[in-house]
Amino acid sequence: MGTSTAEQPPPASDRAAAVDGARRAEPSGGGPLGDESSAAEPDGPLTAELRAERAARGKVAAARLAAEGVEGVVLSWVDNAGLTRVKTVPVRRLEQAAAWGVGAAPVFDVALVDDGFTTSRHIGGPVGDLRLIPDLRRLTRLAAQPGWAWAPADRYAQDGTVHPGCQRRFAHRQVRAAARRGLRLRAGIEIEWVVAEAGAPDQPPVYPTHGPAYGLHRLVDLADYLRDLLHAFDEQGLTVLQLHPEYAPGQFEVSLAAEEPLDTADTTVLARQTIRAVGVRHGLRTSVAPAVEPGGVGNGGHLHLSLWRGERNLGQGGPGRHGLTGEAESFLAGVLAELPALLALGAPSPASYLRLVPQHWAGAYQCWGPENREAALRLIPGPPGEGAASANAEVKCFDAAANPYLLVGGVLAAGLAGLAAQRVLPVEVADDPATRPEGEVPRLPGSLPESIAAYRASGVLREALGDPLFEAVLAVRQGEAELFADHAPEQLVAATRWRY
Ligand code: GLU
Ligand code: MG
Repeated sequence: MGTSTAEQPPPASDRAAAVDGARRAEPSGGGPLGDESSAAEPDGPLTAELRAERAARGKVAAARLAAEGVEGVVLSWVDNAGLTRVKTVPVRRLEQAAAWGVGAAPVFDVALVDDGFTTSRHIGGPVGDLRLIPDLRRLTRLAAQPGWAWAPADRYAQDGTVHPGCQRRFAHRQVRAAARRGLRLRAGIEIEWVVAEAGAPDQPPVYPTHGPAYGLHRLVDLADYLRDLLHAFDEQGLTVLQLHPEYAPGQFEVSLAAEEPLDTADTTVLARQTIRAVGVRHGLRTSVAPAVEPGGVGNGGHLHLSLWRGERNLGQGGPGRHGLTGEAESFLAGVLAELPALLALGAPSPASYLRLVPQHWAGAYQCWGPENREAALRLIPGPPGEGAASANAEVKCFDAAANPYLLVGGVLAAGLAGLAAQRVLPVEVADDPATRPEGEVPRLPGSLPESIAAYRASGVLREALGDPLFEAVLAVRQGEAELFADHAPEQLVAATRWRY
């Protein structure tokens, strides 16, 4: 299960250098457009000038992609239920789309995992239109979907103002808030998934390999699939740190290099799409659902993070416990304190709570401890010598149904609130909390309604998300809690297994 300590490479570079390092992968239409940090991007509306600039870049990128045989460009956003939704344009329309966007109904802010809709105080119903504007910085030719490219989209109103419900712009605002304090976060989201034979989706999954957890058998059985996966990641400029068979039947995991948080979220979307697409080419169906088998080990979406000031990793070399600096400690203490509410972002499905149970390495207790895989916050000081670059913290309680933009934005907001309040970490937990007397170590919420209650009470998240986004998320969580209220675990798993 848990991956290596070295999730965090030195921060010597931002995405620009990462892309440079993978220049081979860069006939992807990204090219020089990748040479920017998202933190430098302005927050404001799309002015005529910005539109003209985007159109010019779109035109260049479209010509390059067309010459490479690309026919269509996928524009993605992730809804509040955690599902990636898309529109596509023929490559010829990219110039237009880059400047003026593509229409999308705002009601998707209140879409549920079953494609039903609810309503929130601000959003709902059939009226209105938003514009999906692709971020060309991340434009990538899709290695496992020949003829297609992809770019993540931001959502704007027709007048060019930022849509207040846009999850990606929310993440960006939090990155900017940290930058205003001279801080930046490096983040990586581990991706766990399960593959099954692509049979009827209403039948129980049939796994293509039956080897033991972490077993060599699984690697041998699926060697071609996994090789193609590595190849596709590489082609797309995604830096794989490691790939391994995980614990549950048919389960694998990939760890990707740390990036700044908005890029991490984009990378997560692209990586999941890639895993799915490579699977299709091998006759496999992919699930990143929190629970694929009732009672089994689920798909986590652990978030690794480290806080930096300039080139200094604040998680090491300080006077605090395990070398934490005061700032890193306050940031982490802020995250730890806010975890019950953050679960509404990071463990968003009723099915999330089938996964988030003790002794599944899912981090079901609200505590922290060095290298403790049962603590929601696992501190990873890094091997002596390497620690300066690799020291980081892993938030384990989040799963792969989370919208990665909401997740990184929410965690940043909580950490910054911890800094502002100069919070300190409680006593560490160095053993399995499940072996302590009951109640000694607090359990995180054990159901979605409990997380919803914590989320509702969170002034930190309400303020950071802004009312329209906060309320839309709340409506979706309540909608899904009601939708599945009477489902037994087997029914809940069957209803959600292939939705994520
Ligand atoms: N699959 C476990 C989870 O649900 C995590 C295993 C690990 O520590 O990597 O989070
Ligand atoms: Mg794992």
